[in-house]
Amino acid sequence: MVESSNKKSYDRVFAKLKDHNKWFENLIPLIASENVPSPAVREAIISDFGNRYAEGWPGERVYAGCVYIDDVEFECMKLAQKLFKAEFADVRPISGVVANLVIYSAFSDPGDVMLAPSIPAGGHISHGKKKHSGTAGLVHGLEIEFYPFDAEEMSIDVDKTKKKVEELNKAGLLPKIAMFGGSLFLFPHPVKELSNFLKNFDIHINYDAAHVAGLIAGGQFQDPLREGADTMTMSTHKTLFGPQGGLVLGFENHAEMIKKATFPGLTSSHHIHHMAAKAITFAEALEFGKDYAKQVIKNAKALGEYLNGFGFKVLGEKRGFTKSHQIAVNVLDYSDGGKVEADLEKANIIVNRQLIPGDIKAGRNYFHPGGIRLGVSELTRLGYVQSDMQDVAQFIKQVIIDKKDPKKIKSKVKSFRKDFQKVHYCFDKKLGAYEYVKLR
Ligand SMILES: *Cc1c(COP(=O)(O)O)cnc(C)c1O
Repeated sequence: MVESSNKKSYDRVFAKLKDHNKWFENLIPLIASENVPSPAVREAIISDFGNRYAEGWPGERVYAGCVYIDDVEFECMKLAQKLFKAEFADVRPISGVVANLVIYSAFSDPGDVMLAPSIPAGGHISHGKKKHSGTAGLVHGLEIEFYPFDAEEMSIDVDKTKKKVEELNKAGLLPKIAMFGGSLFLFPHPVKELSNFLKNFDIHINYDAAHVAGLIAGGQFQDPLREGADTMTMSTHKTLFGPQGGLVLGFENHAEMIKKATFPGLTSSHHIHHMAAKAITFAEALEFGKDYAKQVIKNAKALGEYLNGFGFKVLGEKRGFTKSHQIAVNVLDYSDGGKVEADLEKANIIVNRQLIPGDIKAGRNYFHPGGIRLGVSELTRLGYVQSDMQDVAQFIKQVIIDKKDPKKIKSKVKSFRKDFQKVHYCFDKKLGAYEYVKLR
């Protein structure tokens, strides 16, 4: 029988999936928003939980069949509360964007004002204005006002923010929500310095920990819920090395509003297999998260220092380049972020282009911004330490400054990756980090 074109498509998809895994065994993954989960997380994701519905709160579901799901979800909430020392956890939001929407829906109405970082100052598109198709503006109708930002300190300017809030108040535009956290996120945000001031105006403070959740869990960044944040949202797959997903944390007094916003407001299925995988992740983070977060920050700082030593303009120099998992580099001396991203990919080094402070004023856009962003969360999971960051910096220099043939660097990258194929900081290490699992 001739093979049908359907079967050919089917086979082609599996071939691409395999090629992708193989490629990742041989490349340097530096996307700051990504990580590699443990084999245990991957096992939870392929379980039958992924085929079920469990709408509602555990113990009060809309459907039967949730006996074991409920047990896991109670465990998951307990672990999340322990990991982040939170009174309340809603583990159902299916992504960081949905977690933020839960907060917008629970604590503001369309037309209200939210204070948030602009994108070149590190903000995420889910905090953005309607005219940029940002989630907050487009989906919930919020008006966005940006924090004044200090590009040298690479953080929110405290005094100017206070002035801005007072002015907004006088103009009848007092923010309902103050959003901290971001995507280009080198140094802790001044939550402690601003929370009392903001609370005097009755402003709800949310901290978006999408990027830094794993560092907070490991006690190595800042502790927003102790610094005055009312709620904390996050993705569960960036520095927190879990399945793709979201999480909302807070205090008991806000629990009912958050629960209702999550369901029925913003979820129907909450992707139960990912919920189980979150529970596994929280357990692993409780056990290994402190050592992991410490090593991540050491590696990021080392990478910043080596790149700076090679002549790259690494942002945040005044403060030692970074206190998180990422560094940002101004690459305008060589070309632009888009070109650098493409050149590095040819050498099997995966980074992302990045808008940096000053880009918008200079007329640069997202396709050709002034910077690149590098994150070391995934390399750290694979077992690399500070001294290895010298090799990483060297490869980047050879492609971008020395303009060497990316193919030559690619083969060096392959040997650099050869002996680092397992996930560290987890209970069970049997399966390789990118080992392809065939079930057919
Ligand atoms: C990545 C990110 C998000 C979105 O998270 P998803 O899980 O991709 O929906 C939200 N906020 C910030 C600051 C982020 O960096």
